[in-house]
Amino acid sequence: MKKTIATVMLAVLSLLAMAQKWETPDWKNFRYPTIHFLDKAKGTQGSKIYNRIVPNPKAFIQQHALWVVQTLYWSTSDSIPNVKAIKYTLEDIEGISAKGGQPPVVNIFYSSQWVEKSESSEGDDKVLYETRGVLYHELTHAYQLEPQGIGGYQQGTEFWVFIEGMADAVRFHNGFFPVSDRKPGGNWMDGYRKTGYFLEWLTCKDPDFLRKFNRSTLEIIPWSFDKAMQHVLGKNVTTDSLWAEYQKFLIDN
Ligand SMILES: [Zn+2]
Repeated sequence: MKKTIATVMLAVLSLLAMAQKWETPDWKNFRYPTIHFLDKAKGTQGSKIYNRIVPNPKAFIQQHALWVVQTLYWSTSDSIPNVKAIKYTLEDIEGISAKGGQPPVVNIFYSSQWVEKSESSEGDDKVLYETRGVLYHELTHAYQLEPQGIGGYQQGTEFWVFIEGMADAVRFHNGFFPVSDRKPGGNWMDGYRKTGYFLEWLTCKDPDFLRKFNRSTLEIIPWSFDKAMQHVLGKNVTTDSLWAEYQKFLIDN
């Protein structure tokens, strides 16, 4: 009995320590979204693997929401989209993951088939790495700001490059893409990882680059990559000049 109490006390203490560690003063007022987790893939292998690796999906998703918001903002005083609830579904369908809806209620689906593929290629470590990486990407969509005055989400536009590039930049910044995949070539307009690695690299010029780039959508209307780059990094840069410098860095290293 004594041992049980001691164990419980230890668990409570370590939880408190964790709370203290992650909820720094700037973040103690962060309002975690309510998570509605629904396993629509019950009975599949992917569902079994997911539930084994993520025994508490609500806490897991909430914790990642905080980390995403900390990557994109300085504190809870910033203009952060008010995500009140996230409906997260595990589904037995093709694809990887996607976000739908707009704050206050956001939907995220995750494919149990993708979980199975990750498991069969590299096992549990890969499933956790992949699940967390994909979650960083989709939660960024829930919390990121959006360019104004240049139309909406349409593939090939700067709006789209910003949305998908930032989601992969946040994912990479938090350690959920291998740096070995960061290779020369392509264009900053490619979107996703090509743009994401580039945007993340710009944190070497300004540690707050991702936060400032996100916030630039409130400050520059109509928004553009060039105007935002100059706003954050100075008048004498263009996106192309920064990209050329980044390419040189990749080739030289
Ligand atoms: Zn996306």
